[in-house]
Amino acid sequence: MGNRELKNRDGIEKKIVAKFGGSNLKKKKDILKLVRVIKAYDRPMVIVVSAFYGITNRLIKSLEAVKKDEGEINSLTDFLLSMKEEVIKEHFTDREIATETLALIEQRVAELKRYLTGIHYIGEVPEFVEDVILSYGERLSSLLLAAILKNNGIDAEEALPEDMPLTTDGEFGNATVDFKRSETLVKKRLAGDKVYVVPGFYGVSAEGKVTLLGRGGSDYSAAALARCLEAASLDVWKDVDGFMSADPKLVDRPVLIKSLTYTEAAELSYFGAGILHPRTVEPLKETAIPIRILNIDTFENKISFGTKVHGSETITDGIIKSVTYSDDFCVLKLRGAGVGVKRGVLAKVSGALDHAGINIKSVITSQIAINLLLSAKDIKRAFRVIERLGLSAITEIEAIEQLSTIATVGEGLLEHPGVAGRIFSALARENINIRMIVSGASSVATYFIVAASDRDTAISAIHREFF
Ligand code: ASP
Ligand code: MG
Repeated sequence: MGNRELKNRDGIEKKIVAKFGGSNLKKKKDILKLVRVIKAYDRPMVIVVSAFYGITNRLIKSLEAVKKDEGEINSLTDFLLSMKEEVIKEHFTDREIATETLALIEQRVAELKRYLTGIHYIGEVPEFVEDVILSYGERLSSLLLAAILKNNGIDAEEALPEDMPLTTDGEFGNATVDFKRSETLVKKRLAGDKVYVVPGFYGVSAEGKVTLLGRGGSDYSAAALARCLEAASLDVWKDVDGFMSADPKLVDRPVLIKSLTYTEAAELSYFGAGILHPRTVEPLKETAIPIRILNIDTFENKISFGTKVHGSETITDGIIKSVTYSDDFCVLKLRGAGVGVKRGVLAKVSGALDHAGINIKSVITSQIAINLLLSAKDIKRAFRVIERLGLSAITEIEAIEQLSTIATVGEGLLEHPGVAGRIFSALARENINIRMIVSGASSVATYFIVAASDRDTAISAIHREFF
């Protein structure tokens, strides 16, 4: 690696943080490949792992079921144990490590069982217990992977966030890392010359309570550790090459995007690109730590990346680097003559939604309507919350579903007025009706809303226009 000689502020060789997700931990061959990847790095590093494929969802289901059904405790723990036993059988040549690992797994599953039993008896799930329980998917991955690496002759060790500690702001379910508190301590815990394996998805509050970092949050964990360590890079391993100019399922000949700025990657992720969790960029955007996307499926023996996300911008000829979409945007339209000029309407509406735990993705207002962009899962509840507010300024509420939000992303987009024209002409040629447009809110993204049924045509029309 060209970066080996680089040192951090403490004069220690910079580490690489590599993240492996659930899709890299599905089958025996995936794990074997992962071991080969770590051998190819051939350096001390930090690995962040997600739960095995599907496990977090299974834990969420069991959490509900366990309240009423005591039998679910054993069905879950038996399932986890037999799954892990299977992996141990498949991977361990060293009997001693195998027996030792199985004992540790049993211990960890027994801890989980105690939490589940507690929930069954009290009949509800306190927030702080929910976060602990859901972290067990990752905890089983890290334990197992560290042992597999050891079995393969790699000097590996599991390192838990609570033992660093990786401290958060304490918000259950969706915490943010507190870098001031974490940086020095994390660096100290992970200073050794080995391969550390860290479970993603959680940190701990200042009081030591487990707090999850949001669904899909292992990418964010890995980014946070990379920042604490002043890493040489954050390497996110996927089963695709990287960010593409559009979803390969929807367009002909999409191209791989080699280089993106932090902001471009953040916008693409927010609008559904699905390569990185939208929060991954957050800890890194003020640093010079690049994020590299690497494909494990095509890995042979060299570490090589598809997309690199970093600070320096490249403006391509067509300006637009990628067109992406999300089906998770719905519109709640609040009509009323003069909502645009009446004071306090938006404050009351957003206050009530916040109180109900509903996130507003975006707001587009006019003189006669406030359009709230919300997640599909929240739209019905948001409707009722606002109805109950009974504001006289709002005379009609309409929930509009079956929409898609399409985003075009590229540095320089605002400074090149011709770009918007090309987008809209491409759509007009296909007779696509644009329901709403937002441009200028982000310096690198223009997005617009169309009927869900127009989504695929719209994306291929724009892609054809620019690529
Ligand atoms: N296992 C967690 C989830 O499914 C975190 C992650 O995969 O990044 O949300
Ligand atoms: Mg994930």
